[in-house]
Amino acid sequence: MGEDRDPRLAVVALGGNALLRRGQRGTFEEQYAAASEAAAGIADLVEMGYRIVVTHGNGPQVGAQQLRHDAGERVHGLPALPLHACDAETQGLLGYIVQQALSNELRSRGIDARVAALVTRTRVDPSNPAFANPTKPVGPFYSEEDARRIAAGRPGVALVEEPGRGWRVVVPSPDPVEVLERGAVRALVDSGFIVVACGGGGIPVVEEGGILRGVDAVVDKDLASEVLATAIGAGTLAMLTDVDGAYLNYGKPGQRMLGRVSVEELEGYYAEGHFGSGSMGPKALAAIRFIRNGGLSAVIGPLERTADVVLGRAGTLVVP
Ligand code: ADP
Ligand code: MG
Repeated sequence: MGEDRDPRLAVVALGGNALLRRGQRGTFEEQYAAASEAAAGIADLVEMGYRIVVTHGNGPQVGAQQLRHDAGERVHGLPALPLHACDAETQGLLGYIVQQALSNELRSRGIDARVAALVTRTRVDPSNPAFANPTKPVGPFYSEEDARRIAAGRPGVALVEEPGRGWRVVVPSPDPVEVLERGAVRALVDSGFIVVACGGGGIPVVEEGGILRGVDAVVDKDLASEVLATAIGAGTLAMLTDVDGAYLNYGKPGQRMLGRVSVEELEGYYAEGHFGSGSMGPKALAAIRFIRNGGLSAVIGPLERTADVVLGRAGTLVVP
């Protein structure tokens, strides 16, 4: 295992705080500033000779996009577009922001690097049990009436009430099967591009009778990043987030951050339920899958130390 892996190729998955800080409104300038900070760590790696594919989340951005569509429909009669189309829109927008921030950072260091952002689709299996059990909240809190109107005509989505805060739309979050543009990503990497891909986990599509169709669902960005990283033969999968690493007994007395762990050890802790579902859980699972699929190292660590995390000098390092 691992002989087909490129130790100098890393997939770097940026968490939500890389593009928008908690409490910010989401102006273009705020997002560009956040991306510029994230870009510094990536540029450090490029200077060290790493080839990089950047992936990122889109939670707040896709929620805002849905609200824009909703308002556009109510105020101007413009048809609201489905969730998979909002995913495509946010991939384009965030790809542009990361691309601009990263190329400016590299230029300021005198590096003539080329950055390309791709719109990518992630194929999911329509028979995945997640489709019968939507769990992933997307978008803002609504009144019950608004939530019902927004969910109307969307098969497979459900509504949940969070007492005191309102109603949210929940959609299925099926496992990613493949990133359809993996060949394009690899070809761009091979010709010297830094690539931005899998934004928001990619646009979820299903194949039915040879036809691809976008679906009302979301793919976890860390799990999608693993599928891409494995497919392109990356040596390292790094998941950058807003905590120092993966903890045991997180938020409880005696919590302890994991340093270097074997994949077997992490599997044990995962089974014991140490990692929050929908937050640290998918990161741990992505790390486990990446190593089991032949990856050399998977790391979960703080965004402010991107280069150290990729090098295995910070965060939780998972090894075969
Ligand atoms: P990202 O946008 O980076 O994917 P998430 O919010 O999805 O961020 O995941 C990071 C969060 O996971 C942390 O802020 C923390 O609150 C939460 N979390 C849940 N379980 C753990 C754990 N065992 N160790 C560390 N963080 C955890
Ligand atoms: Mg997350």
